[in-house]
Amino acid sequence: MIALKNSMQQDRIRRSAALRSAVYSRIRTLMEPGICTLDIDRVVEETIKSGGGVPAFLGYGGFPASVCTSVNDQVIHGIPNEHPLTEGDIVGCDIGVILDGYYSDCCKTFAIGEIAADTRKLLDVTEKSLGAAVKVCRPGGRVKDIGKAVTEVVEPYGYGIVYSYCGHGVGLSLHEDPQIPNYYPSRGLNPRLKPGMVLAIEPMINAGKPDVEVLNDGWTVITADGSLSAHFEHSVLITENGAEILTSWGG
Ligand code: MG
Repeated sequence: MIALKNSMQQDRIRRSAALRSAVYSRIRTLMEPGICTLDIDRVVEETIKSGGGVPAFLGYGGFPASVCTSVNDQVIHGIPNEHPLTEGDIVGCDIGVILDGYYSDCCKTFAIGEIAADTRKLLDVTEKSLGAAVKVCRPGGRVKDIGKAVTEVVEPYGYGIVYSYCGHGVGLSLHEDPQIPNYYPSRGLNPRLKPGMVLAIEPMINAGKPDVEVLNDGWTVITADGSLSAHFEHSVLITENGAEILTSWGG
């Protein structure tokens, strides 16, 4: 069942998403060699709380932190730790916010210092695939248009599109219907997009094969072949004419 949000709910979700902007503005300045992901987590938690919000991931299913920090070959759900990041690393920072009971979800993969050209290309293509996915979101379109748009951008580069995890509805809770595969063709339902839907669109793209594994911590998803992985995500409202990106990476 896909919840359509009324204008009051849309406004609340918009505000939840806007709090993210302050969070990313702060953490983007920290992305230097020597920072550890636990430092990032502390700043994320403090910034969300000082804006009146609640970190949506903290305690969700037992997750121990406010941000999922996924480094290099980690795809999603990485747990912050004290290991310092080094020049050339990449780190996905996936952040869920609850504000006044309304949820938003967003991720950006950051570079630590100078990164290799092929790493930069992976980040750029993944971000571009998210942009292409948002562009096809409009009333009358369908959920599978999103995975198709991602696939059309990513496939020419030979990257692997993660198929084990997908995007989702968001707003009244963290994970709502519909499921949004990032690849095409895909199985499953293909509901029509309607004004009032809020979708967390989140391509996860591996430099190598699309297969993933979960580490023994029960959370961290890594690429099976050890290749790098990038993840970009926005929460997007379907409007009468198209789509509005609600979340922001803070400039
Ligand atoms: Mg998400």
